[in-house]
Amino acid sequence: MQTRFSDEARQLPRAEEAERILRSCVHCGFCNATCPTYQLLGDELDGPRGRIYLIKQVLEGQPATTSTQLHLDRCLSCRNCESTCPSGVDYHNLLDIGRAVVDRAVPRPASQRALRLGLRGLAASPERFKTLLRLGAVFRPWLPTNLAAKLPRASAPVEVRPAPRHARKVLMLEGCVQPGLSPNTNAAAARVLDRLGISVVACEEAGCCGALAYHLDAQAAGLERARHNIDAWWPHLDAGVEAIVQTASGCGAFIKDYGHLLAHDPAYAAKAKQVSERALDLVQVLGNEPLEQICAARNQRIAVHCPCTLQHAQKLGGAVEALLARLGFNLTDVPDSHLCCGSAGTYSLTQPALARQLRDNRLNALESGQPEWIVTANVGCQSHLDGAGRTPVRHWIELVDQSLAE
Ligand code: SF4
Ligand code: SF4
Repeated sequence: MQTRFSDEARQLPRAEEAERILRSCVHCGFCNATCPTYQLLGDELDGPRGRIYLIKQVLEGQPATTSTQLHLDRCLSCRNCESTCPSGVDYHNLLDIGRAVVDRAVPRPASQRALRLGLRGLAASPERFKTLLRLGAVFRPWLPTNLAAKLPRASAPVEVRPAPRHARKVLMLEGCVQPGLSPNTNAAAARVLDRLGISVVACEEAGCCGALAYHLDAQAAGLERARHNIDAWWPHLDAGVEAIVQTASGCGAFIKDYGHLLAHDPAYAAKAKQVSERALDLVQVLGNEPLEQICAARNQRIAVHCPCTLQHAQKLGGAVEALLARLGFNLTDVPDSHLCCGSAGTYSLTQPALARQLRDNRLNALESGQPEWIVTANVGCQSHLDGAGRTPVRHWIELVDQSLAE
């Protein structure tokens, strides 16, 4: 695709990257076939090819409008289009560049600004988020349906984490909303790792990965969060921890992008690259360990929802399924497993109608094999799907943890 950037666009720090990505698109439209929003809305501008074209127009000097912003807002950043594209178009980076330009040019209404500011505030303090969840549980009957659906269905079990005792050590990202929404996930991961002879080292200074702010009109704040985490992890990496493990694939996808996003920051580029290289999803760590020796799978019917951030961003589609099958779990068939559930970070709160449609479609597919449980690998998907009040949804590591042989 030919491009002719405006003088203003040429001044952007990522102008060259945007131009390279735009030029790699041959406008074939194959990506539309797997785009969830294109499937639902049938509008060219709600598919990847149309959005690429909108961003191109803006970078070539045409004015950004509220309509441009709306079509970009409706994108889930699920990256399904990247998995489908035969030309390897790096869509998500172009979208991030385009969104920043459009959001600078098109001020949002006060209600949207307040929502986005509030959501970013949640990431800043996991303790504040936990307090909000406790308050939400008390006032649940009076909350709007889509907010009530975000509260965990059952009260969370008490966390029991083994103290570090092994020579092999890893760091684990605690995250921002996961400690409140699913506190047993990291505890379960720590117990399984401990049984395999790997201890989890606490690093309380690291918190949110930064993705939430980065994708909510605050890219600079998201990158600042990334630098903060790099500073917190660096002494532990120097001391020989093997990896930075993530149990939420959304966070993992973002940490694996630190190297790219901070490549032009002379103070952090090299460290960010190393951090990204040492970041591993839990399934990558456990996939190489002799789990069969410590697990005895129960005969339960399980459906796996593979998050977009695991399959399309981290290219680890099928890894959780392979691990659970190896351990003897009874996995049901899930049609259209490449599709997004509609969670997509904060999308279920910023685009609730589309998110609900995508969630219900995904649950219909997941439940078609009549599973007793649905498992996934990202707290956002877990909470969004579980919020429908249908088949219970957990992180897959909780299932493995429950199956640990005595
Ligand atoms: S992003 Fe890829 S699949 Fe989509 S129109 Fe461009 S080249 Fe074709
Ligand atoms: S990231 Fe997902 S929603 Fe956005 S254009 Fe690509 S396939 Fe469609």
